[in-house]
Amino acid sequence: MHAEQATMAQAAELLTPLVLQNYIGGEFVPCSRHIDSYDPSAGEVYCHVPDSGQDEVELAVNAAKEAFPLWASRSPADRARVLYKLADLIEAHLEEFAQAESRDQGKTVKFARTVDIPRAAYNFRFFASSILHHTTECSQMAHVGCVSYTVRCPVGVAGLISPWNLPLYLLTWKIAPAIAAGNTVVAKPSEMTSVTAWMMCKLLKEADVPPGVVNVVFGTGPRAGDALVSHPEVPLISFTGSTATARLITERSAPYCKKLSLELGGKNPAIVFKDADLEECVATTVRSSFSNQGEICLCTSRVFVERSLYPEFLRKFVAAARLWKTGCPSDLSSSNGALISKEHLEKVRSYIKLALSEGAVVHCGEGVDQLTLPQHNKNGYFMAATVITGAADESRCMQEEIFGPVAFVTPFDSEEEAVRRANGVRYGLSAVVWSRDVGRVHRVAQQLQAGLVWTNCWLVRDLNLPFGGMKSSGVGREGGRDSYHFFTEVKTITVKH
Ligand code: NAD
Repeated sequence: MHAEQATMAQAAELLTPLVLQNYIGGEFVPCSRHIDSYDPSAGEVYCHVPDSGQDEVELAVNAAKEAFPLWASRSPADRARVLYKLADLIEAHLEEFAQAESRDQGKTVKFARTVDIPRAAYNFRFFASSILHHTTECSQMAHVGCVSYTVRCPVGVAGLISPWNLPLYLLTWKIAPAIAAGNTVVAKPSEMTSVTAWMMCKLLKEADVPPGVVNVVFGTGPRAGDALVSHPEVPLISFTGSTATARLITERSAPYCKKLSLELGGKNPAIVFKDADLEECVATTVRSSFSNQGEICLCTSRVFVERSLYPEFLRKFVAAARLWKTGCPSDLSSSNGALISKEHLEKVRSYIKLALSEGAVVHCGEGVDQLTLPQHNKNGYFMAATVITGAADESRCMQEEIFGPVAFVTPFDSEEEAVRRANGVRYGLSAVVWSRDVGRVHRVAQQLQAGLVWTNCWLVRDLNLPFGGMKSSGVGREGGRDSYHFFTEVKTITVKH
């Protein structure tokens, strides 16, 4: 195709609402009902997503069941080859995926290009390699003439449910380890961000993924999600999303005693001691609070600062937050794009209103700084990075997950107080500690109730290590060996000789 024609074809595709189809048994299957999906940066419907229910889930589970025996019997190296191919194909289409992820979710193209899509490809590559290196256990019991050992086998059809904030990134974080371990899957992405999952389905044949190994059913939580969770022949559910939904999923899967992995919300603290490297700390805390519009489960939302450093920290933090530009997602100078939906924007705003009504002070962002947006973004769901002080620890603003570009800053006087207040929420996902005192860093990190603690950095991840939360932030861990353990069943065999 001519360059000019290609541009026109792409433009036409951008103008025509996309109509997605489910991917079942290696084929795209139309659905008779659809729901609207919005471009959050324009506030317009741009895509129609299948509104699947029990019938579509049934078809997908059957396809996955049929494909399971053959896929499970392949060698790990053979399965790994398929995962590597898929990683290469995603990378070869990186720019198209990044543009689509940005349009669907509201995030900047830059973020999708450098974080979401590279990580989605890496998820396949990582688990392709990781599956080759697991060993099982063996125990000698000479006094009774026995030797015991463990074997692991795939579980069967895995149900995978993912949220809208890092759409392809989090979906592939589940699909990759599940199929690497020999399971077949039925995945349900968020109804608000389904496009990149659908685009990935277009690559599965070329990657030699056999029909039925990866099935994707699109739709809402209460219909498609619930049908998957309550399907008797789906023995395992890996879910990433809100704590409220996790409660429903736990109830619905209880009658079947399903294996559950739940990666949930957070209300993550950063503790800044007076000996912190302030420049590094401010720059990183702005990133940890506002990246991806604050829509990352690991984002910092409460910043505790030792009192003697508090005025200087606040001044520098507010100044840096003001430089964190919110604007058109395709503009390379934008650090943030739009929030996922009008409802979510209103929810985030409601917390700022609540904070103000309780006597807090908004230093920058919402209601203080005007956003300058291009005409085509005027109806988008944008909010500038917002810094608030003066909220009480008991306030809902300091207790509930807001999941937007809002950070609360508050002073503390002692290490014991900082730890107690940081732990004083029902969540326990991640935390950050800033100090140059090595002893303090270890001491505080060990006392914090969080599944992940970063000290003097944020979001540095080795995928081999466990990922997940304590308290209401989750059940179970995923990552290299943890994912392998979750996506397999273990059996102990004892032999008397
Ligand atoms: P959500 O719980 O509303 O939805 C998540 C997924 O569950 C979606 O696919 C949705 O359709 C589905 N779902 C909803 N109701 C369901 C039901 N009754 N049965 C089955 N499935 C159902 O969450 P969200 O708003 O999409 O995502 C934001 C949340 O996800 C935040 O709380 C965030 O902290 C959390 N999150 C956690 C992690 C983590 O790794 N811990 C990562 C990203 C996001």
